[in-house]
Amino acid sequence: KFETPHVFVVFGASGDLAKKKIFPTLWWLFRDHLLPNNTMFVGYARSNMTIEQLRASFEKNCKVRDEEKSLFEEFIKKCSYIQGQYDKAAGFVALKTFIDEFQKVSNNQPVNRLYYLAVPPSVFEAISTQLAANNKDNGDSWTRLIIEKPFGYDLDSSTKLSKHLSSLFKEDQIYRIDHYLGKEMVQNLMVLRFGNRILGPSWNRDNIASVMISFKEDFGTMGRGGYFDKSGIIRDVMQNHLMQILTLVAMEKPASLKAEDIRDEKVKVLKAIRPIELKDIVVGQYVANPEMNDTDAKLGYLDDEGVPKDSVTPTYALGVFNVHNERWEGVPFFLRCGKALNERKAEVRIQFKEVNGDIYPPGDLKRSELVMRVQPNEAVYMKIMTKKPGMGFGVEETELDLTYNNRYKDVRLPDAYERLLLEVFMGSQINFVRTDELEYAWKIITPILKELEEKKVKPVQYKFGSRGPTEADELMKKHGFVFTGTYKWTAPFEN
Ligand code: NAP
Ligand code: NAP
Repeated sequence: KFETPHVFVVFGASGDLAKKKIFPTLWWLFRDHLLPNNTMFVGYARSNMTIEQLRASFEKNCKVRDEEKSLFEEFIKKCSYIQGQYDKAAGFVALKTFIDEFQKVSNNQPVNRLYYLAVPPSVFEAISTQLAANNKDNGDSWTRLIIEKPFGYDLDSSTKLSKHLSSLFKEDQIYRIDHYLGKEMVQNLMVLRFGNRILGPSWNRDNIASVMISFKEDFGTMGRGGYFDKSGIIRDVMQNHLMQILTLVAMEKPASLKAEDIRDEKVKVLKAIRPIELKDIVVGQYVANPEMNDTDAKLGYLDDEGVPKDSVTPTYALGVFNVHNERWEGVPFFLRCGKALNERKAEVRIQFKEVNGDIYPPGDLKRSELVMRVQPNEAVYMKIMTKKPGMGFGVEETELDLTYNNRYKDVRLPDAYERLLLEVFMGSQINFVRTDELEYAWKIITPILKELEEKKVKPVQYKFGSRGPTEADELMKKHGFVFTGTYKWTAPFEN
């Protein structure tokens, strides 16, 4: 009856992330009976809110089905709200009292604590200081701290935050969320690489011509440009999500599946990447596209109200990175991200080299590609050459296609946050960013950010709804990416 008590506290409970993601995710995990039975959920913020108001803020995002209504009421009964400041002890003392009471009614079993900082980074330090002073466990249960990007603004600010956190919490208590690490296809990267003899031996500079990691959005800043302008796409996407995926593509096989073994290998990759120079990057900013039948497309980035008219913040970036080690020397890693493009997708594309000693008519054979589509509609496909079916000996491009919707019809892929929050409960840090990983990723990215910002490098303009600046295609071509435009795909049936 008295199962180990757990308390999950959401700081910034009145905010956007809490209502859109965290509380709904906690509900889905609760609904699916994945959480420890004796778990309480506490919202904490400065706003004066009742528990009813808190519930109203997130309920519609929970998508509660009719048959789940009574279970949802049970979930709500386990939710509380504490009003408090982030930099004063009183609220944290109230939280301590709450946890102590919870321990008492749980047969005096020590309470495991999860603290989620869903607040702007300006208050990370205040909250963690108060938590360390008032709300840590007594050594007979555990405490875990979950934080969200941005982890600093550059190497210095990130290091400052990391040092602060490390002075209060141990590495195994800190869970930095990069939600891309919670995505099915990103988690599948290791299995594809290390679970298939067919891929492992060709995963190197002898066979691979280039690696492209793309993140494309088909919408602009949609009135939130003021917020975006302070960071830009390089901080928002490249430094974290794309760099994380790069490490999983490039790392050596870890000694085991233990978090520390995997994170050690990821760090080695980051250490082997040198900062890039201006010649290795294309930055872009989208402009209006009046021809598109979409009201958003009528506004360019600089038309967004919060954006300064002379902003040089990139909404698109392509960086060409090199991993200077024996496996990858000379293979370009294209990290490509942008807003207001022609489509929404995130994928990893491995382009293989031409076959040696080609016996077919020149130009007939095209390079094979292995594509792992992270979103939308998860898929792994290999673009390969086959004989053109029928009479004759001609060749043509086709694909081996593993589209998840077709292959795994009734499987629901959990949302990244569902996976990651559950992993925090379980104490698995594989998919969370370790302090040194973060530090090395910033070491790679900070110099180019500084140079772009100090020199006020003007981004190239590209039209809303386009594939981005043609300069980006040219830079990739210069580094050996081959696009023939000959591959034609026909969907076998509607997904
Ligand atoms: P938010 O809505 O702006 O802030 C969350 C709460 O923090 C607010 O309700 C407010 O609560 C408090 N707060 C806001 N500004 C503050 C300030 N200057 N000083 C002290 N407290 C302040 O933020 P969010 O969108 O939920 O995001 C939370 C964190 O997650 C941020 O670090 C953000 O970068 C990150 N993040 C958000 C998303 C998303 O989808 N929203 C996605 C990825 C990462 P009270 O006034 O009631 O205390
Ligand atoms: P593709 O159209 O040949 O594109 C290959 C790569 O070349 C993409 O990264 C593309 O960039 C880039 N590219 C496109 N136009 C270019 C240009 N003018 N100059 C330089 N580079 C250019 O092949 P694909 O994208 O692999 O497949 C084509 C379509 O079929 C896609 O929509 C794909 O989703 C679909 N497909 C789906 C499945 C499936 O669902 N299982 C399987 C196979 C193919 P962008 O990334 O910017 O487009």
